[in-house]
Amino acid sequence: MTDGFVYEARPMRVVFGAGSTAVLPAEAERLGMRRALVLSTPQQRGLATRVAALLGERAAGVFDGARMHVPVETVAAAEAAVAEADADGCVAVGGGSTVGLGKALALRRGLPVLALPTTYAGSEMTPIWGLTENAEKRTGRDPAVLPRSVVYDPDLTMTLPAAVSVTSGINALAHAVEALYAPDGSPVVAAMAERGVRDLANALPLLAADPGDRAGRRAALCGAWLCGACLGATTMGLHHKLCHVLGGMFDLPHAETHAIVLPHVAAHNLPTAPEADAALRRALDTDDVPAALADLTALATRLGAPGSLRELGVAEDDLPRVADEVLARPYANPLPVGRRDLLGLLHAAHRGGTP
Ligand code: NAD
Repeated sequence: MTDGFVYEARPMRVVFGAGSTAVLPAEAERLGMRRALVLSTPQQRGLATRVAALLGERAAGVFDGARMHVPVETVAAAEAAVAEADADGCVAVGGGSTVGLGKALALRRGLPVLALPTTYAGSEMTPIWGLTENAEKRTGRDPAVLPRSVVYDPDLTMTLPAAVSVTSGINALAHAVEALYAPDGSPVVAAMAERGVRDLANALPLLAADPGDRAGRRAALCGAWLCGACLGATTMGLHHKLCHVLGGMFDLPHAETHAIVLPHVAAHNLPTAPEADAALRRALDTDDVPAALADLTALATRLGAPGSLRELGVAEDDLPRVADEVLARPYANPLPVGRRDLLGLLHAAHRGGTP
């Protein structure tokens, strides 16, 4: 087929709106959950407890042990909590780490997941799971891990600190940027990506100025939903590959790493992806996409987020090792990247700033 595409709609139900957490009991009932285990990180236990209270008789307890990168030990502890509570489903309240734990339970126990995202990572929209064992993260795709229902309540994001809101928002932007030049893109994905980028680009400066800006919160979460759906529908390229390798090698914070690397990958890839570049120019209202993305990263650094791989603690001497690891395994990209270009890109991200 020439210039064709395949698009597979995911069977996702989305409830969106300020105050939508109130529909949780009805959503749980729709899914046939009678004893739901509420999942969270230790930091979000208070919210998880309120969610359990709202679920009333349909709540079987709270498991607040969710951690970054879904360690197998955490999954084992959550499985024990499922067994003890005789849970028939789980409600994941939080960011990518908590949703990731819900997905692991779906994978290993066949439990349905209801997600209430509180960051912009977008995991709730994807069939991608991850599990970390012996310091190695395995990932895979399985439609069984897709949450059955996602309740997006911007009120739950009001507590996300300004700097984290911006870096998490750039993490979402990265999904849309790479979806726009993905080998399995389609008009549906392109439309979602462009709208998602526009929403986030409008929202992030508002949230940097005032994390309590309600219109900004709504637009950012809507953008995160659409960008997450792009991630779920396509194959990611150089940017996600780089962040995965960097994160795995140096145990770096997820959203911050994305925010630092994205402008540099955009500067490298977009000249070879003119349609993606045009869509991003429209969405960001700019004629220099990498510079506009770097401006968003600078918003986060002004709020205290790290602005370079150096500030994240990556040694310059380690960059060749990162390049070798990226080159060792194939990934989708508009054009293959050679070692010299890759090292140049890594050095630019190590210095930080506009590409
Ligand atoms: P996270 O879930 O680790 O959350 C970061 C911290 O912020 C946690 O301490 C959490 O409790 C806190 N937090 C979350 N929401 C908050 C809020 N509203 N107010 C105050 N604090 C809040 O971080 P993340 O960036 O959302 O997710 C990163 C993880 O998700 C990574 O492990 C990444 O690999 C994974 N991920 C997976 C996919 C996928 O498709 N499988 C997609 C994106 C990210």
